[in-house]
Amino acid sequence: MSEWLACVLCRRQFDAAETRYTCDCGGLLNVERDRVRLERRVFDERRSSRRAIDQSGVWRFREAVLSIDESRIVTHPEGATRLYERDGILFKHEGENPTGSFKDRGMTVAMTQAVRLGARAVACASTGNTSSSLAAYAAQAALRAIVFVPAGRIAAGKLAQTLAYGALCLQVRGDFDAAMRLVLEASQRLEMYLVNSINPFRIEGQKTIVWELLQDLEWNPPDWIVVPAGNLGNTSAFGKALIEARDAGWISRMPRLAAIQASGANPFYRSFRQNFEQRHRLTPETVATAIRIGDPVSYDKAVASIRATNGVVEEVTDQELMQAKRDIDRMGIGCEPASATTLAGVRKLRASGVIHLRERIACVLTGHVLKDPDAILKNVAPEQIVEIDPDLSEVERAIRSSEAAR
Ligand SMILES: *Cc1c(COP(=O)(O)O)cnc(C)c1O
Ligand SMILES: [Zn+2]
Repeated sequence: MSEWLACVLCRRQFDAAETRYTCDCGGLLNVERDRVRLERRVFDERRSSRRAIDQSGVWRFREAVLSIDESRIVTHPEGATRLYERDGILFKHEGENPTGSFKDRGMTVAMTQAVRLGARAVACASTGNTSSSLAAYAAQAALRAIVFVPAGRIAAGKLAQTLAYGALCLQVRGDFDAAMRLVLEASQRLEMYLVNSINPFRIEGQKTIVWELLQDLEWNPPDWIVVPAGNLGNTSAFGKALIEARDAGWISRMPRLAAIQASGANPFYRSFRQNFEQRHRLTPETVATAIRIGDPVSYDKAVASIRATNGVVEEVTDQELMQAKRDIDRMGIGCEPASATTLAGVRKLRASGVIHLRERIACVLTGHVLKDPDAILKNVAPEQIVEIDPDLSEVERAIRSSEAAR
């Protein structure tokens, strides 16, 4: 038994080949394995290999992700995203994954596990990016894809993409949390394998965001890793990744995690402020649809991540995150609104003295700028988009008035 599932609450263990998402006690499950005895050099060498599983920023770390015959891996490949530096801050752009969000890193692992378990259909509840990713990977693996999205509450790019890859799209009248409850029930009653981040194999894939970031930095950890926080899958995965990297000797110093929520969808922030003495649930509202979540599934694992990394949780208003999005877009990088909570959070944490000016910061940009075109088009200044007759004088007038407005 090289890998097994373990309950985070009662420590009970289950076979990794069992289709199971939670323990009988209700606790979340973690994938655990015997200690990985690999040196960083192995991962560095794979970076120059031409094989798809070495090029994948997920499967490059495969011994610490999923133990499976290499020929059975469902990979695009994914990961291998760029790391940008602007104004002294690092940005790991997970929007550069095949379907435009970090969700591909977890999905390649969950889909590989789905095929191994003999699933015929896969399902998820989603604010849009998980469904896009599920639909693409299910198409590749020739599995039926069924997604549950909150009706009218998903960004246009994500809905279109999910449909394009051929998934059945169930628009649930309710918010994300209602869609999540429904898919949990449906996956237990109907034959569909659930690939939300409650699925512990998703978390195994998402760990590689952190490992690849560390590798990008030649294994010199930054002081802070900053991540948007919605359903808390990434916050959970990042803590697990850092603990495992330290235990394997890949890093000698732990970065601190900063998980950032939108102030209208801030249950995790509220708990953090009370030293995690109480779990909160609320009705979420924010322009950042990817993190419009009021009852995050991975709460217990995320608390462990924040504690293990001496991390913090911050909140930012919609106005602050949209200003940060505009700034990231104008750097020539671009991202969707939820991703910009990172820069907005850094600004707030610097202002309050939690992050010091000289500290090295890596923000994880979770989604691509084109995922949410409405968030851009609704905020364009009228001088920037001008309809004109085909006439040179109108060109001159438009340029003049846009210059005057700058
Ligand atoms: C899913 C998603 C998030 C939230 O991540 P969690 O792991 O659910 O906390 C943030 N940003 C984008 C773009 C996402 O797609
Ligand atoms: Zn248990």
